Amino acid sequence: MKKIIIALDGPAGSGKTTTAREVAKKLNYIYIDTGAMYRATTLAFIRSGQELEGFDFDSLMNNIKIELEPSESGQRTLLNGEDVSKEIRTADVTKLASPVAAVGIVREKLVDQQRELGKQGGVVMDGRDIGTVVFPNADLKLYMHASIEARAARRTKELIAAGEDVSVEEIAKRIANRDEFDSNREISPLRKADDAQVIDTSNITIEEQTNIVIDLANKIINS
Ligand code: C5P
Repeated sequence: MKKIIIALDGPAGSGKTTTAREVAKKLNYIYIDTGAMYRATTLAFIRSGQELEGFDFDSLMNNIKIELEPSESGQRTLLNGEDVSKEIRTADVTKLASPVAAVGIVREKLVDQQRELGKQGGVVMDGRDIGTVVFPNADLKLYMHASIEARAARRTKELIAAGEDVSVEEIAKRIANRDEFDSNREISPLRKADDAQVIDTSNITIEEQTNIVIDLANKIINS
């Protein structure tokens, strides 16, 4: 059976992570949430207690080890052996992840690691630049997007379930800021690969999103 590479890109809250996880489970593929790698790097930077301006990211990247492990909930993120899966989802990390992810050496190192992790195929990788930069020859490229209202509503529900006290207006603002930053950075900005298929997730369920991707993947796997 052919083991393909599925690249799933899109803005924050578009449903790509949940979809990628479900698709990987159904196909028995490896799931790689590349956002978690940028978040773990951001956490390491925050823990250094230093300012972003002039920070020595070369040295940081040579001294941290980020690992992704399969877990019950999909994926566990380890930073130098410590499970940081929860800590990388805090508002502080989320806010700083975009500027940290815009740093050249950070992207260079993480992209190398992502290519290594996915090169055997049988992988669903989600992020911002998977179809454009990490695996430009991916067998299946998808770009998920949704209205800002739908994305903010989804993210607010997740955060409230995780015990945070947030309003949908505030989350919409934060998402819009992150999109703006991610889409306008110099290196590997968020954009749809020319050959990616677009899925608008504004009005469909996770199950429907997953089934669309599975059907497209199976067509390629069985061709
Ligand atoms: O996907 P998630 O929201 O967890 O990603 C956190 C941040 O990491 C994004 O806002 C983006 O700045 C960065 N990122 C990236 N490239 C990726 C995945 C995430 O720049 N492939």
